[in-house]
Amino acid sequence: EPFIRFRDVEKSFSTKNGTVTAVERLSLDIAEGEFLAIVGPSGCGKSTLLMALAGLTQPTSGSIDVGDERVDGPMTTAGIVFQSAELLSWRTALENILLQAEIRKLDKNAYRERALQLLADVGLEGFADHYPDELSGGMQQRVALCRALLHEPSMVLMDEPLGALDAITRDQVQLDLQHLWLTVRSTVVLITHSIEEAVFLADRVVVLSPRPASIAADLTIDLPRP
Ligand code: ADP
Ligand code: ADP
Repeated sequence: EPFIRFRDVEKSFSTKNGTVTAVERLSLDIAEGEFLAIVGPSGCGKSTLLMALAGLTQPTSGSIDVGDERVDGPMTTAGIVFQSAELLSWRTALENILLQAEIRKLDKNAYRERALQLLADVGLEGFADHYPDELSGGMQQRVALCRALLHEPSMVLMDEPLGALDAITRDQVQLDLQHLWLTVRSTVVLITHSIEEAVFLADRVVVLSPRPASIAADLTIDLPRP
């Protein structure tokens, strides 16, 4: 029984120039614990698909289920990472990570140790009390990863998490991301336009066609992992 099930998902937007179909009759199953990467040309509908899975936009038709829950509103069980870290400038790295507990009305203090452990896992031990403007772009994105994982989400959704970083930083954060995933083992859906990044990180790569998104290839990546 798959953990995430997209069934005949279609998403259209009305614009002043008519209807844009971003996703067309897409069906996809994702197993629990799978690391799935979705690649495809710019504008093909990748973000729309991810936002629909997060419950932040509704499909025009079709359905998305996670576990035994139908997605019909924001998924509180998700951890989300975007291209930009979106940290609050007036809060330290640690307080930015603990924000995840606060917005979920969880006991912040109960998550402090985990937040510090996550920071250590991405090589940022000692940076808990630094403010975002004291951190490099790569370090800020590592903090955003920790924030997404704090509440032990059942799925982690990432939209081009390395997309804003320069090439050297990207390689480093990619390694941290792999390391983190090997420790948390959550179900991950990663959007990227880098096939190299997809193959490096994921167990499975789905390639989407140009808009409207439909599945052009579905590849199992069988590589030894560290
Ligand atoms: P990708 O993530 O693959 O680059 P998107 O999912 O962002 O693609 O967009 C897919 C298509 O849907 C694009 O043509 C985009 O312009 C269109 N689109 C996305 N969001 C909206 C919106 N809110 N209103 C109108 N069109 C949209
Ligand atoms: P970018 O500025 O492109 O985001 P990095 O994230 O690799 O690049 O960090 C740039 C600089 O920040 C590094 O040269 C290093 O001095 C410092 N830095 C990054 N991560 C750490 C760390 N874990 N410990 C100490 N310094 C770090």
